[in-house]
Amino acid sequence: MSVPPDSLPGMRSTARTPPVDDRSGSEFRTTLTGGRPTLSPSRAMDFKQCPLKYRLRAIDRIAETPSLQAVRGTLVHAVLEDLFGLPAAERLPERADTLAASAWSRVRGERPEVVESLTDQRLEVFLDEARALVRRYYRLEDPTRFDPESCEARVEVELDDGVPLLGIIDRIDVAATGALRVVDYKTGRAPGPTRETQALFQLKFYALMVLRTRGRVPAQLRLIYLADAQILTYTPQEQELLRFERTLSALWAAIEEAGRSGDFQPNSTRLCSYCDYQPLCPEFGGTPPPYPGWPTGDPTARSTAATRLQ
Ligand code: SF4
Repeated sequence: MSVPPDSLPGMRSTARTPPVDDRSGSEFRTTLTGGRPTLSPSRAMDFKQCPLKYRLRAIDRIAETPSLQAVRGTLVHAVLEDLFGLPAAERLPERADTLAASAWSRVRGERPEVVESLTDQRLEVFLDEARALVRRYYRLEDPTRFDPESCEARVEVELDDGVPLLGIIDRIDVAATGALRVVDYKTGRAPGPTRETQALFQLKFYALMVLRTRGRVPAQLRLIYLADAQILTYTPQEQELLRFERTLSALWAAIEEAGRSGDFQPNSTRLCSYCDYQPLCPEFGGTPPPYPGWPTGDPTARSTAATRLQ
């Protein structure tokens, strides 16, 4: 693993290739999941960390209060997506500064409860923080010098044994040689050795999706940490991704088994301090709602069961 920023050979062309994602009938082989739960990197990590947390999020769909930090992350991703939607020559820092306001007008609609909590003064600080993160991005890459193949591509794929994977890949770059790079932006700081494994879990997940949709192993996985302007890169190997695929299959089998039995045990760790579900968790004296059962059909049929934590 290497930390300094680097580039794939040939990743310098600004010749534009059409965006590729599963929403535009592209080469991504999509699998509509018809309301069934899917396995994303976040949900996989949830189940590994605490099966009850997975259940409350993915099956009961009990809404959590989004943190300001999470909303800022959504905003920064939206700005970077908009930035790459501009002609390469226009992707300058001054132009990026102007994108925060328009991106915010989209993001704010998705998070009205957060907007309500922001005073005008706090909103300006919030937008400035997002702009500062985007400015830091320029220390790591020059977006005027290449065109990504896709940004924020929603990818769904079903593995051969039926595991339904879902991911939103921040960016996919393709070098002149055809080499693929999978990129993920993080608005936090680069992790230490312990959390690095967790970060790589997400990238391996995406690399496997690329392998299964395109039949090619990405040449590079790149995590861009904006808070401290660090890049973490990783070169995946096919055998490693195949082993990872078996790990995901085993994890999904465990999720389905818990889904059938309704037995989603709490797993108390230090991460409980950040868990919104404490009031519903036996580890904290709470009681989970009755298990609604494994969703199989139209997700809207279950929406009346969804509740919000007070
Ligand atoms: S508080 Fe801890 S044990 Fe309880 S659901 Fe949340 S993460 Fe799991």
